[in-house]
Order: sequence, then C-alpha cells, then structure tokens
Amino acid sequence: MDMVPLVHASLGEQELAAVAEVFSSGWPAGQGPQGKVLEAELADRYGVAGAVAVSNCGAALHLALLALGVKPGDEVIVADYTFPAPAHAVRYVGAVPVFADVRADTGTVDPQAVADLVGPRTVGVIAVDTVGMPADYAELRLIADRYGLFLVEDAACAVGATYQGRPAGALAPVACLSFHGRKGATSGEGGALLTADPALAADARLRSSFGIEPIFDQARVVGLPIPVFTEIGYNYKLSDIAAAILRVQLGRTDELLDRRRAVAARYAELLADEELVTVPQVPSDRTHAWQSYLLTLDPRVDRAAVAADLRTRGIGCGHGTWACHLQPVYETKQSCPVSADLFQRNLAIPMHAELSTDQLERVTEVLRTALQAHSRRTA
Ligand SMILES: *Cc1c(COP(=O)(O)O)cnc(C)c1O
Repeated sequence: MDMVPLVHASLGEQELAAVAEVFSSGWPAGQGPQGKVLEAELADRYGVAGAVAVSNCGAALHLALLALGVKPGDEVIVADYTFPAPAHAVRYVGAVPVFADVRADTGTVDPQAVADLVGPRTVGVIAVDTVGMPADYAELRLIADRYGLFLVEDAACAVGATYQGRPAGALAPVACLSFHGRKGATSGEGGALLTADPALAADARLRSSFGIEPIFDQARVVGLPIPVFTEIGYNYKLSDIAAAILRVQLGRTDELLDRRRAVAARYAELLADEELVTVPQVPSDRTHAWQSYLLTLDPRVDRAAVAADLRTRGIGCGHGTWACHLQPVYETKQSCPVSADLFQRNLAIPMHAELSTDQLERVTEVLRTALQAHSRRTA
C-alpha cells in the first residue's frame, strides 16, 4: 500500500553537505561560526535588529518573556487555538495565561476577544500564526499600544507567510520561530527569537547560554579574561550542526513553500464541491505558510471514524491543533467556544512539499468515501 504521510521533512543532499562542513570545522556546538552567520542572515531576511538562534521555539518564547520582564502573577493573554507552547512559556515564568478565543474562519486570535480580556494585571499578548496563517496584527498592535502591553508573535509555523506585504516573524516587536521537523524550514529541532530591540536580543542570547558570553568568542580573545556569570541562564543554544542545516533550508523556503501552496490549491479544487468539509480560507491581505492543511468537518461527520478509515488506508491525518483552555494542566474555568469547536471538528490531512498529484487525488478520494460512510447526512 502506498502510504501518504501526514508530514515529511524535505532534507537532502545540500543539507548533508552543509553538515559535513561543520564536521571538518571542528566546532559542532552552539554560538559558533555557523550560528553567527545564521543569525546575521535571519536579521537581514526579517529586517530586524536582533536575531537569536536557539534550540527550539519553546525556548525562544521562554527567553522572550524573561527579557520582557514578565513576573510571577502577571497575566499574559494567549491565543487559544494552538500548540500550547505560548501558555506553557507563560507558566515557566510563574505568570498566568489568559486564553483568548479565535476567529472561526482563520483560527487566529480574535482581536476583540483580546481587548475584552485586558485587566489590571495584563502585561502582554502572545498571538499565534495558526498553523502558518498570520493573525490580525494591525488590530493587535492597536490594542497593545492602547493598553501599554507587549505583543509577541508566535510565528512557529509561519516561515514564508506574509501579512499586508510583510513577512510573518516581523509582525510584532518580538517574534519566535520554530525549526522543528514538522515546520516548513527545519533542522530537526531549532528555533529563533527575532526582535527590533537589540538590548532584548542581547538579553535573550545571554540567557540562552547559561548567562555567559559565547564561549567560542572568548577562546579568540588574546589573554585570559575569566568570563563571569551574570544571569541564571539556560542552555538553549542551537548547535552549529543545526545552524548549517537551517542556512540551506532558509535558502529553499521559496521552492518548498511553492510546492506546499500547490498542494493547498489542488486540495481546494478537489474538495470544492464536498459539502461535508470547509477548506481553509485565506484573507486577501495575507498569505499562508501551510504548515498544516486543516479541514473543518461538518458537525454531522464522525471525525474519529473518518480518521480511522484514512489511517487504515495508509493516509496520515490528525486532529489539527489544540484548544489550550481545555488542557487539564492549566486548570482554567475560561471558555473559548470557537476554539473548542475547531478542536472538535478540524482534521489535518497530508501537507508537505513531497506530495505527488496522484497522492492528493487518493487522499481526497478516500476522504470523500469516508465522509459519506460516517456522516448523519439526512436523505
Ligand atoms: C510547534 C510550535 C511551537 C513549538 O515549537 P518547538 O520548536 O517544537 O519548541 C510553538 N508554537 C507553535 C504555535 C507551534 O506550532
């Protein structure tokens, strides 16, 4: 049976060659020559003053909140319909995540919901570019400015997406990227913090390396100045092996995103007349990075049964992402009905750059049959 995986990382010969170079350089650890060039390339690509390469996006979010001075007891408003990394990061610093509901059509945070949740203890907002779809930053920036809040963009899934002509990752004063194996550009694990504020970048870089200046740089100083620890930092460095892979991947984003875009366009055609699913709608002022392709199923469809059929036929699928407020760890009594509904009804079908036309046709064929079999469609 031809398996059609839900995800597939496009890593190949060019990335292998870049890794081989790191091996011969003798410096595979973090904050070395590759990491430095990667940071310069990221700063240039996004037009920001500071880019810090880190081990993953969760680490970037943690460092962002530390650098922004979030304190225990502070409240941070977070988008609800997402992988829960933003709310986790809020908890890492002892603050309280407050969950904001999302737009039904885009799955991105609803600016009005954010405005309604601002209270005396609110210090900031973390918006999410949901599975690659940028949120409403024009409105979010106005709200952040009006109430004096920080705004962080979680662009983990959104490398290559745009909003009003600007790249996702440069839509808020601080942004975090992920280079996890399931995202559009990857080094297996990896992440970056991007910011317009050089001091904030310096703070994050210091805390990403146990609270001392880069070891690689110190070894080149003449004399023997003993580095001092000025922060209880973490080890959130990105290895130079990963940095080298990422430099290749970032150079390939147009090529890889073009292929994901073609997949999305073909799915939309193949499913246009299927009344039991709604395909993703992208507002005209933004473009999608297509980290995932989420269908919203009609309420009459038994999603678990459809998913079981797909998987039995070798087609990868998933529930999409999470309604964070429903995760037991947060013990919240908040309600976000739109997010909860998407969490119930969305279905992720295969999305990556290596899907063939035949595979797309097979996915939609099997899906249509499964939808027929598992819906309470009235005759
Ligand atoms: C994947 C993801 C993360 C976590 O990224 P890591 O690099 O795995 O830490 C954070 N936020 C969102 C929205 C994500 O989708």
